[in-house]
Amino acid sequence: MSAVEVMSSEATTVAPRRISYVGTLPFLAIHLLALGSFWTGVTTEAAICCAVLYFVRMFGVTGGYHRYFSHRTYRTSRVFQFLLAFLAQSSAQRGALWWAAHHRHHHRHSDQVQDTHSVAQDGFWYSHLMWIFERDNQATQYKYIPELARFPELRFLDRYHLIAPILMGTVVFFTLGASGLFFGFFFSTVLLWHGTFTINSLSHVFGTRRFATTDNSRNNWFLAIVTLGEGWHNNHHHYCVSTRQGFYWYEYDITYYILKVLSWLGIVWKLQPVPAKVLAEGRTLKGQQAPLPALTLRAELPQAGQA
Ligand SMILES: [Zn+2]
Ligand SMILES: [Zn+2]
Repeated sequence: MSAVEVMSSEATTVAPRRISYVGTLPFLAIHLLALGSFWTGVTTEAAICCAVLYFVRMFGVTGGYHRYFSHRTYRTSRVFQFLLAFLAQSSAQRGALWWAAHHRHHHRHSDQVQDTHSVAQDGFWYSHLMWIFERDNQATQYKYIPELARFPELRFLDRYHLIAPILMGTVVFFTLGASGLFFGFFFSTVLLWHGTFTINSLSHVFGTRRFATTDNSRNNWFLAIVTLGEGWHNNHHHYCVSTRQGFYWYEYDITYYILKVLSWLGIVWKLQPVPAKVLAEGRTLKGQQAPLPALTLRAELPQAGQA
């Protein structure tokens, strides 16, 4: 079974992309602040802080935003759910509800005309980061996340999504000083952003295709290192409800290993396995390249408002 809900484009016109360029300014400012590391210098403590905050927050992104909130691939307590949302949001990628809603939309329409971020449809830079500044993508689409929107504390975090990163930056500054803030916090935040974004951009372009999904998703061993296991993106688009994305022992998946340890400690439970049927299918396809699907492109359709 493909976990992707196939939805052929019935659109006869497409709405033009409307970027808020003013909205890009804080994003650009954080990139400049990361370069402030040249001015402060980099202490050993700041370098360690950068590595730790990248790793821990990448786990928040993949184990929290993605495998828990977006796909509900395991269960946990309400308290740990809150902590996961807080940790994920310290990456400054908006609220867990906003993130999950957009991601569910991506799976529903992956690389189709309606996809929020598709390289095939809108090019590399749009899929990598410009989609974040599209005016239509600013609101949290509650209709995609009804079971998560029930929790007032998650709605609170979603609304005040900057609390977590501001708090983290403040603690780092008062603990490690200017070098800690600029390199440990800002620089690691920029690395974390682009590391995360590669899954929307590069992993729909570069890599191998084991499964014939209805999108252009790939498995990419390098991106699986950068993103703690998210690089097995073709696997994920084929079967998105399993906790692990590396389906076989040689497809390393650090996020899954951490979740497995947390399950031994009783902090998370009901990790969803990859069904034997899917694993067997993948084994028979080993070494083969699935063809790319034929896609209807936005560029081929008239824009709304045109004749
Ligand atoms: Zn996903
Ligand atoms: Zn994808």
